[in-house]
Amino acid sequence: TDSDTADEAVRATCDDASICKRFATSKGYWSDPYIQYFVRQTGERKAPEINRGYYARVQGVNHLLDAFLKKTQCDCQVVNLGAGLDTTFWRLKAENTLPRKYFEVDFPMIVARKIHHIKTKPPLSKPLIETHSADSLLLDGHSLDSDRYCIIGADLRDLAGLEEKLKKFHINTELPTIFVSECVLVYMTPEQSSKLVHWAAHTFHTAMFINYEQVNMADRFGQIMIENLQRRQCNLAGVKVCQSLESQKERFLSAGWESVNALDMTAVYSLLPQEDISRIEYLEFLDEKELLQQLLQHYSICWAVKDTLNLDKIVIDK
Ligand code: SAM
Repeated sequence: TDSDTADEAVRATCDDASICKRFATSKGYWSDPYIQYFVRQTGERKAPEINRGYYARVQGVNHLLDAFLKKTQCDCQVVNLGAGLDTTFWRLKAENTLPRKYFEVDFPMIVARKIHHIKTKPPLSKPLIETHSADSLLLDGHSLDSDRYCIIGADLRDLAGLEEKLKKFHINTELPTIFVSECVLVYMTPEQSSKLVHWAAHTFHTAMFINYEQVNMADRFGQIMIENLQRRQCNLAGVKVCQSLESQKERFLSAGWESVNALDMTAVYSLLPQEDISRIEYLEFLDEKELLQQLLQHYSICWAVKDTLNLDKIVIDK
């Protein structure tokens, strides 16, 4: 059916994200020793503005996530929604900042692929086994559960199913919990993403939500971005909430979150430490500075807090 085609196209976006991250790390933008096990080849060259955009995305999201982990002293949970082949679990393990439990959710088909990589590559499975007390891991084709890491195949548009699976793998709604979604909500209708965000706010008493996605899509450049994704038959039902930073914030405020911030990536980029900017701008020559600016203007990070821990002190600062 059409909707199967659209879901398949959305699943394919997980490779795009990882391929771009793999390429940027191969150029030295940041270090990720684990991504090579999910994406074998460095692949075609990506334009410097794409690499810089990914750098700002990864630094911005990591900064907020790390601030939450610090604030809660890792006595918390992370739930990465639409995680794809994300490697954050392995980074946190290496940095010794793992939360009590790290959950990932994606379509069953993506989860099956990820589990296959984990099972067959010791650098991926070893950190999991090291943090697990029992002799065996719970593994079936569409989920994997261990003491500190759990990956679940589910559709984020089906909240009853999502909640049931998270409970099955012992999510604790009493623990401070951070949700992360990177380029995921845009593929759902505004109703579906609002319900997800509402469910998160009403199921966990202390929570934070980081959402990275497209914004300012009403202008000419935004239209071109939409056309590119549509050409691949992606379901872009959520583009309607990508009109402005205000609409990004409104989605969270109207769903019960207490405080919300949103920055476009131009702002995030300018908040990166000057020495980091100098270092990455030296990696590759960028002729057309304007292209980078346009790209950055069309992505945003929005973060919302439901605060019983004074977590709203978490801000992106220098
Ligand atoms: N967050 C990852 C990253 O930044 O590297 C992957 C981003 S990729 C653009 C979008 C991911 O969201 C894909 O892995 C896709 O399968 C997942 N996704 C989109 N809609 C979903 C849904 N309704 N249920 C579960 N996963 C979904």
